[in-house]
Amino acid sequence: AKRLGSGTYQWFSPELDLGTQQQLTLRTQLQEAITKQQFEVFYQPIVNNVGAVVAAEALVRWKHPEQGYISPVEFIPLAERTGQIVTIGRWVLEQACRDLSQLREHGVGQVSVNFSPMQFYRDDFLSSVEQAVRAYGVKPGQLVAEITENVLLRDTTASLAMMHKLRDLGIEIALDDFGTGFASLSYLNMIPAQKLKIDRIFVQDIHINSRNAAITRGVLTMAAELGMTVVAEGVETSDERDYLNNYACDFMQGYLFCKPLPIAELIDWLNHK
Ligand code: C2E
Ligand code: CA
Ligand code: CA
Ligand code: CA
Repeated sequence: AKRLGSGTYQWFSPELDLGTQQQLTLRTQLQEAITKQQFEVFYQPIVNNVGAVVAAEALVRWKHPEQGYISPVEFIPLAERTGQIVTIGRWVLEQACRDLSQLREHGVGQVSVNFSPMQFYRDDFLSSVEQAVRAYGVKPGQLVAEITENVLLRDTTASLAMMHKLRDLGIEIALDDFGTGFASLSYLNMIPAQKLKIDRIFVQDIHINSRNAAITRGVLTMAAELGMTVVAEGVETSDERDYLNNYACDFMQGYLFCKPLPIAELIDWLNHK
């Protein structure tokens, strides 16, 4: 902070300026990526308690002409701030619905799509979902909307109403990154979710980390009593898997089973499994 006199501070530093410049560049490049359709959807299998693939989560990647695949961690947060996530998210939803029939041919009956809060609050959100579902003949139970509890923070009533409308369309709701957001447990009573996704931070080293184990067991018990199923995210080792199996975790997802893959590679993997 630089003192300008009489109590006024101006915040600046070379890094901050560079950051802003980089953000502007990224924003422009994202716009170009949208126009030139440089996005791809990868799919990561979700397995049940006997290791059968029952679903796949759609995860977007940006295939940059020079930099190769760019992780969503690098551009989703900015796209959420600029609103570009609306266009990107709609495209991901369309693509996932389109890919569903191919996935179903290979025994994967359900596809999960991430929705950011920003999409949720758009007037045309529901109609765009309806349109995709209708256009690709998506049946009830075949599409899961992954949302984080943070969606509730802006307008709880409106977001709950939207979730019920999605349910009416036959779309399942999964609470993503459960336990890492800012919502309180009291919301859990109101949210019409069928699935809880336990974040990787609670799954990591669960067989030796007694605090993670305690939290995860608590979530499993609570979910069961509320009639929800649980997906453990980021399962990387067989020790973690075995521990989760012992405590009757319904579904798992993680590098132990498979990384997110382009659809052709996923189908290859499914065929050779
Ligand atoms: P997420 O929804 O929590 O997705 C799970 C992330 O964990 C994915 O990262 C996945 O590749 C990664 N992962 C899966 N298994 C493992 C594992 O065993 N170990 C580790 N270390 N990581 C694992 P990814 O694909 O980089 O996506 C990051 C985040 O970007 C997602 O987190 C989600 O919040 C967001 N995202 C991705 N695609 C979309 C999208 O289409 N729309 C929106 N709104 N957000 C998206
Ligand atoms: Ca997710
Ligand atoms: Ca997650
Ligand atoms: Ca996460």
